[in-house]
Amino acid sequence: MTNDELWKAVLSEMEVSLSRANFTTWFKGTTIVSNSNGAVLVSVPNGFVKEWLENKFNKQIFKVVQNYHPEIREIKYAVGNNRSHSILPKKDFAQFIPEKMVDDRSDADIDKVTNLNKRYTFDSYVIGSNNELAHAASLSVAKTPGKLYNPLFIYGGVGLGKTHLLQATGNFICSRFPDKKVSYISSERLTSDIVESIKNRTIEEMKQRYAKLDLLIIDDIQFIAGKEKTQDIFFSTFNELYGKNKQIVLSSDRPPSAIPALEARLRSRFEGGMLADIGAPDYETRLAILKIKAKEKIFDIDNDSLSYIATNIQKNIRELEGALNRIIAFSQIYNKVPNLKEVKKLLAAYLSTPFRKTTYQSILKSVADFYGVSLNDLTKRSRKKEVVRPRQVAMFLLREEAKLSFPEIGSKLGGRDHSTAIHAYEKIKKEEDGNENTKQELVLIKERLYQSFESS
Ligand code: ADP
Ligand code: MG
Repeated sequence: MTNDELWKAVLSEMEVSLSRANFTTWFKGTTIVSNSNGAVLVSVPNGFVKEWLENKFNKQIFKVVQNYHPEIREIKYAVGNNRSHSILPKKDFAQFIPEKMVDDRSDADIDKVTNLNKRYTFDSYVIGSNNELAHAASLSVAKTPGKLYNPLFIYGGVGLGKTHLLQATGNFICSRFPDKKVSYISSERLTSDIVESIKNRTIEEMKQRYAKLDLLIIDDIQFIAGKEKTQDIFFSTFNELYGKNKQIVLSSDRPPSAIPALEARLRSRFEGGMLADIGAPDYETRLAILKIKAKEKIFDIDNDSLSYIATNIQKNIRELEGALNRIIAFSQIYNKVPNLKEVKKLLAAYLSTPFRKTTYQSILKSVADFYGVSLNDLTKRSRKKEVVRPRQVAMFLLREEAKLSFPEIGSKLGGRDHSTAIHAYEKIKKEEDGNENTKQELVLIKERLYQSFESS
């Protein structure tokens, strides 16, 4: 039996036990290069594949090999330049990139005390017209914490750089003022801290812990909406810190005025500091961000490809980065940097996933999420006052985004008459033209909607 025949036997065995995508990912471009002294050497295209074969598939491979050659004791894998096996069929290579390679957010860089991720700095933040104000405000807060803008409240849609700015502010303060006590937490964490302390009767301790801070950063504060106990305790912590000129920095996906079920006293505190929004980045900013990310990842890619990505992905910087990661993953798997043509193919698969079609479910979900009401209340005949407006907005969006007919809209939302749907549509349509708040609300809901396709 030749080496090739032996490897073929292994491949056909593996092929039946793996999905086609997995098989292709892990076994294309592999081959036996030598077989001597009881050791088989398998050449693989890259280190990533090497690791997987060694850790996940070696046992299985070994078993097949032993079947034919019981004298073989060991299989080794080495990254080689063997190109005799063609890479994947061009048509569908994009779908073979494992999702885990695309998402590179890791917990490794997170500081145990402050909870900050060192990766996020001002140096790696691209300033554009969309974030100029938010950036400038954050930087001055970082340089003179507690003095200028308190609280600093940054808001904007998903994936536009809020967390990055908040963390950069924290990291800057930690390095410039090492004595200052800094804590970065999500509002979910805040809530669970509070729930936990209530359970353990340690509210006072918890409050004291927070009261010792020089800088408290809370990300995505909109999630405290409707949580009365959390708001209550946070209010007193806020006042305590504020009274001592300690800096508070908050982020939210919308301005304080648009957070539903937020106590008026908190809203007025939030509005009493500096509000700065982040919008969608323009083309130049998107390109600059891609360049900085490619550089961070030590990835050399031509400008045409970058400009193609920047042109085609507009809504969300996380998505922009996801596209770049996808291309980096491609190049790791296939051991080559894709050219523009391949980049187009990679992104075509990415941009036109079937989930991108606006479904009425995704609209209802985005609306329910946004207003913090349950999907059930929204779609049933519930007469709760707080769902009236969300339902009208849902009706409007079902018409505008999903192009449903009015009778369909009525029946999907609690079996209502089509005239109710028309009335709701017209009401919101009019507000969209004349009312700044509504305009803003609709933009934010649509942002969620587009986001939801990505995570589907
Ligand atoms: P948000 O918190 O608003 O949802 P993030 O701060 O998590 O968004 O940003 C998503 C990704 O985009 C992060 O990896 C972040 O580093 C990157 N990013 C966003 N804005 C910028 C920018 N102006 N410059 C560089 N990277 C950015
Ligand atoms: Mg965030």
